[in-house]
Amino acid sequence: MLWSKRLGLNQPKTKKKVIEVGVWGPLASFMLGRNWGAVTIPLPFVCFILYWLESESETVWWPGLRVHEYQHVFQDEKNLCFVVTAIKYMYAHIVDGGYKKNRYEIEADLEADKAEDADWIGYEWAL
Ligand SMILES: [Zn+2]
Repeated sequence: MLWSKRLGLNQPKTKKKVIEVGVWGPLASFMLGRNWGAVTIPLPFVCFILYWLESESETVWWPGLRVHEYQHVFQDEKNLCFVVTAIKYMYAHIVDGGYKKNRYEIEADLEADKAEDADWIGYEWAL
């Protein structure tokens, strides 16, 4: 596919299949310009994680980003259906006061920090 490639990375155990894709090009540049590293898109039987890359040759530069995004996968798995995940996320986005204060983002950031503090022990899949 144009400006994207499927990443063959080690993955933690998940209920849904997770497809990790590296994306570069104009959309990725736009996202990186806003300090967004990736996005997790939960669908009925699969979760996509898109990582915004500077170029085709770049890889995911920080394992904590993968831990963060997988936390969103695990958040989605707690819900009956991906629509519930989307509604709860948007609700939190409004009630909590935006992206940085969104409880799901804070939880994902804490998990990434926890992994880094543990020197990635227990998170070897992310390295
Ligand atoms: Zn996030």
